[in-house]
Amino acid sequence: MGTDLVRLSAAETAAAVAAGEISAVETTQAHLDRIAAVDERVHAFLHVDTDGALAAARAVDQRRAAGEPLGPLAGVPLALKDIVTMKGVPTTCGSRILEGWRPPYDATVTRRLREAGVVVLGKTNMDEFAMGSSTEHSAYGPTHNPWDLTRIPGGSGGGSAAAVAAFEAPLAIGTDTGGSIRQPAAVTGTVGVKPTYGGVSRFGLVALASSLDQAGPCARTVLDAALLHSVIAGHDPLDSTSIDAPVPDVVAAARTREVRGMRIGVVKQFGGEGYQPGVLQRFREAGALLEELGAEVVEVDCPHFDYALPAYYLILPSECSSNLARFDGMRYGLRVGDDGTRSAEEVMALTREAGFGAETKRRIIIGTYALSSGYYDAYYGQAQKVRTLIARDFAAAFAQVDVLMSPTTPTTAFPLGERVDDPMAMYLADLCTIPSNLAGNASMSVPCGLSPDDGLPVGLQFIAPPMADDRLYRVGGAVEAAYAERWGHLLIDEAPEL
Ligand code: GLN
Repeated sequence: MGTDLVRLSAAETAAAVAAGEISAVETTQAHLDRIAAVDERVHAFLHVDTDGALAAARAVDQRRAAGEPLGPLAGVPLALKDIVTMKGVPTTCGSRILEGWRPPYDATVTRRLREAGVVVLGKTNMDEFAMGSSTEHSAYGPTHNPWDLTRIPGGSGGGSAAAVAAFEAPLAIGTDTGGSIRQPAAVTGTVGVKPTYGGVSRFGLVALASSLDQAGPCARTVLDAALLHSVIAGHDPLDSTSIDAPVPDVVAAARTREVRGMRIGVVKQFGGEGYQPGVLQRFREAGALLEELGAEVVEVDCPHFDYALPAYYLILPSECSSNLARFDGMRYGLRVGDDGTRSAEEVMALTREAGFGAETKRRIIIGTYALSSGYYDAYYGQAQKVRTLIARDFAAAFAQVDVLMSPTTPTTAFPLGERVDDPMAMYLADLCTIPSNLAGNASMSVPCGLSPDDGLPVGLQFIAPPMADDRLYRVGGAVEAAYAERWGHLLIDEAPEL
C-alpha cells in the first residue's frame, strides 16, 4: 500500500483524501517511509519535519471528519526548498552561515500551503544561496539524480526536483533566479515552472537576486504543477513587486490539452554548437509533435539572447553581493571568533570567511567589483541595458507567436564532479533559461523523452509573456498527454526503482 500511495499524483492523492479513501496521515506516513528508504542515497532532504508533517496531516483529517471544505491539495505532501522560510523549522539555504537558524515567521508561500492543507514534509537540498546548477555547492553534500546516482540532479533546486523524481513527494517548491526550477526539472524528467516575475510572492524567500527571484512548482505532471501554482500565486501586499491582478486560470489550461491554432516560436539562438546531439534530436521531434497536434511552429530570431549569460552574471552577483551583506554573524546562525577580544568587524570577517563557500564568495567579490564607483556604468549599467534589449526581443517575438520553445538545457545530467571546478561550464547549464528571468516572463520545463545517446531525461522549455502563464500549462499539458499516449505512461515511470 505504501509504495502505491507514493506513486499517486497530487491530484489523485487530494481526490482520494477528499473522498475518504485514504487519510492524509496515511499518505504522509507513506512518504516519510519512502524518504527513510531512499534518501540516504538520494540526499534530497536537509531536514525532515516528521512531527510537523504528521500534525498537519492529522489537522486535515480532522477537518474532513468535521465536514469542513477542503482545498484542492489538502492532505498532499510537499517538499520545500531550504531557501523558503517556515516558522520554527531550520532554514539553511545550503549554507553553513545559517546553521542553527530557525525563522520566526512563515514565507507567504508557506502560509498559503499551510492554509490549503498541504503537508510540508521537510526542507530540500540546494546549492548555497541558490547559486549553482548541480547542488554540489551545498555545504551539506550534493543531491544525487534518481535516474543515475552518479549524476547531478541539477541546481540550485536539485533537492526539490530529486524528491519529486524519487517519489519522496508528489510536489515540491523551488525558486528560479536563472533556471533553478527548470534545469533540475529537465535533468530529472519532471515538470518545473517559473511563474511570471511578481506572480508568486517573494516575502519570506531568502533573497538571492531580488529582481530575478521567483518561487514556483515542481511536480511529476503538468496538472499537479498547475494545482500547486494556483495555491501559491496571487497578490501579496508584503512583496512590493507582487502583481495585483487575477492569477491566470492555470488549472483549466492544464486540462485543455489542445494546441490547435497556437503559434509556437523556436528560438533561433538556442540549439547550435555545444548542445548534446541527443537533446537536439528530442527537441526537433517535439517540434514535429506539436505540428502534428495542430500548432504552427515557426523560427523566431532573438538576437540579444547571445548576451543574456554575461549580463546575468553581472546583475546576479551585484544583487547578491548586496543581499548577502545581511549575513554578518550578528543576526542569524553562525558566529565565529566572538571570544571577547575581537572587534565586531573582525567577527564578521571571520564568520563570513568560515560560513560562505567558494562559489558564494566568488559572486560576492564579482558583484562588489561590478557595483564599485568607476566600474558601475561599465558593468552593472551595461548589463541593465542588455536586459532591456532582451525584453524587447521577447516583446517582438510575442507579437508573432503565443509561446516560444527551446531545449531547457544544452545537455542531460552530467556526472557529479565534472564541472564543480569549472565555473564557466557550470554557468552554461542555464544558457536557455536565463533570458526569461531577465525579462520577468513565465516559463516551464516538461519532459520530452530520454536522450538516445545516454538514456537520460531531456527537458523541453516553453516561454510565455508575463501573466500569460496559462499558455504554458495549455501547451505543456498537450505535449505531456501526447507523449503519454505514445509511450503508454509518463516518462517518470521509466525512472529506476531505487
Ligand atoms: N545556476 C544559476 C546560478 O547559478 C541559477 C540560479 C538560480 O536560479 N537560483 O546563478
